[in-house]
Amino acid sequence: MDQIIIHVDMDAFYASVEIRDDPALAGKPLIIGSLPSERGVVATCSYEARKYGIRSGMNIKEAYALCPSGIYMHPDFEKYKAVSEQLHEIWNEYASAAEYIALDEAYLDVTEQAGTFDGARRIAHEIKRRTLQEAGLSCSIGLAYSKTAAKTASEEKKPGGYFEIRTPEEFVSLIIDRDVSVLYTVGKKTAEKLHSFGIRTVRHVRENSEHVERLLGKHGKWITMLASGIDDRKVEAYDPREAKSIGREITFQEDVDDYALLRDVLFLLSMSVERRARRAGLFGGGVTLKLTYSDMKSITRSRLCSDCSSAMKIYGEASDLLEKVEKLSVRLIGVSIYNLSSGGNVQLSLLDYDPDPGQNIDENGSGADNRELTGSTADEVLSGILSRYGIEAVNKTVSEAGDSTGENGRGNSENGENGGVNDKNSGSNGGSIAGGDSGTNDDEYTATNTGDSSAGDGGPVFRVDPERLFRGETLYRTIEYMRKKAVENR
Ligand SMILES: [Mg+2]
Repeated sequence: MDQIIIHVDMDAFYASVEIRDDPALAGKPLIIGSLPSERGVVATCSYEARKYGIRSGMNIKEAYALCPSGIYMHPDFEKYKAVSEQLHEIWNEYASAAEYIALDEAYLDVTEQAGTFDGARRIAHEIKRRTLQEAGLSCSIGLAYSKTAAKTASEEKKPGGYFEIRTPEEFVSLIIDRDVSVLYTVGKKTAEKLHSFGIRTVRHVRENSEHVERLLGKHGKWITMLASGIDDRKVEAYDPREAKSIGREITFQEDVDDYALLRDVLFLLSMSVERRARRAGLFGGGVTLKLTYSDMKSITRSRLCSDCSSAMKIYGEASDLLEKVEKLSVRLIGVSIYNLSSGGNVQLSLLDYDPDPGQNIDENGSGADNRELTGSTADEVLSGILSRYGIEAVNKTVSEAGDSTGENGRGNSENGENGGVNDKNSGSNGGSIAGGDSGTNDDEYTATNTGDSSAGDGGPVFRVDPERLFRGETLYRTIEYMRKKAVENR
């Protein structure tokens, strides 16, 4: 027996936190995510909402059709992050390595602490008890010999469940007649492909392993190993420096076919990526542009480049990639950097360094004092963009005067708070773990629509604080404002 692994997964995490903090929500169908009037998806929903058929990732309009009487709320990521940290503190006590794959989910290597499966079972129940007692939240736990099996086990008795899978044989006999998608990394597309060849269940994979390997190559080999219960992956202590990419993306409330606007949006996203990369002390070795067209078809275009960390450079590569794509109507645009590396001694001083927007790290950016930055061209581009859309950049001092005039809630999982730092293992929509600056309370005032439309030249003034522009919610509002202006000015 090599490893003993616990997979902890909070039950309906965002919804459970909200219910814990407002008991009036208990027993009601609660849907956290976009609002029905917006575009976007369900992030999480309560178990009562699940009875209506609502699921995470479901289009919010579809959810609303299923349950118009539900309570719909924007997520409060700051709060969930704080709760998550509290949970990590509890869980860390029991693990030699903890890998946080989402705010509410972790693999814990308890091999040393537990010694045996019986010891591990005691730990698992202790974790469940303390999670409930100290955080007021329910979780499900899987205990197993491998990561895949542990994750499968935690799903087994949700919510509030506990389940064990001690050996590969137990794992196989549990899943053998289930759909292939039960196997880790078999997503929708792979499952469809396998189905189309009549390989529907794990049993079929086992009986047709050569065929699966021929069809899917390396991935096929991995899938056939899993179908035999083999998964030697270790629990790796999560380290944001091992992040695979840093990115930002935005889903528009209405599709955009104005490519001049898209270029401007790309610039703002690039500046946001620069900020995040600097906070983490990371440089990119390549840039990826992502687009989802109005027909939901997504494309990505990537390009290697050296020292991609400044907004100008990221934007330069990404806008070049944008030039070459098919110019269809766009629903989502995103930019990210990958092949991350830390920039020598720059990282030390970057940790708590909040750069002014627009300053570029010197080409050789490794000088002892990284504040010796060159140029303010990005700054100039930024103010050009803002003024083009009639956006007034103001200093922080507006905070005293400003109230958040009727701006609705905070960013949701699809608008603007996607992206972030992608865990190297989960790889999918990151942001939840290390996504530096999620929407925060203190930027509520920073994007405000003030004055009434009767005021002199051209209606309400949209104000942003440039220092806070790149936080999720403010960035999202600003870009939405730009989109509306672009439509008006057509
Ligand atoms: Mg969960």
